[in-house]
Amino acid sequence: MTKSRILIIEDEREISRFMELELKCEGYEVTVEHDGMRGLIAAREQPFDLIVLDRMLPGMEGLEICRRLRKSSDVPIIILTAKGEVLERVEGLESGANDYLTKPFHLEELIARIRLHLRLYNANQRNELQFEDLVLNIRTRTVQRGEQPIDLSPREFELLQLFLQHPRQVLTRSEILEKVWGWDYDGQDNVLDVYIHTLRDKLERREAPRLLHTVRGVGYVMKEPA
Ligand code: CA
Repeated sequence: MTKSRILIIEDEREISRFMELELKCEGYEVTVEHDGMRGLIAAREQPFDLIVLDRMLPGMEGLEICRRLRKSSDVPIIILTAKGEVLERVEGLESGANDYLTKPFHLEELIARIRLHLRLYNANQRNELQFEDLVLNIRTRTVQRGEQPIDLSPREFELLQLFLQHPRQVLTRSEILEKVWGWDYDGQDNVLDVYIHTLRDKLERREAPRLLHTVRGVGYVMKEPA
């Protein structure tokens, strides 16, 4: 497996050096820039898998770099802010950052977030939706649970895709019918129950734990096994 490439843009040399060494230890390929403008150029010229971006930088400030990068790239960006700097959540999200951390932070926390965002990004690049051990690929229209491929009809596939796009959210019967069968569906009322039943059957082979749960009187939810 190739190493993930991380760009650190941070003007405080002590912090950037520390992150560089630790992330290299974790097996990442690391590039460091200490100036905002140079950082932006580096981010545009080389393919990185993730960027750790300090907010206050000489040359160009972090949120501006983030906004500019977002015009052409969806690389995960984690913003670092100094203690005392007020970074409104909205401001961070508007700039297009995926996450942010306030200094001083624990390195384990940074590494955990880097892992999370790399995983999400990679799954996204592969056009995959994932929940627990269930993986659905939108492009190849394949589904597997663990190593086991699952054969679904087109409608079952759409139904599962809907749940995977809204993990842990309760979807009402009418929402599901509208999205998967179309708003003008006027067929039998129990069609959804029948589909859920077959879908569960297929997903729970080999005694795999239940992910698709009934919310009595409301609808269904995809969540961790009870
Ligand atoms: Ca700084």
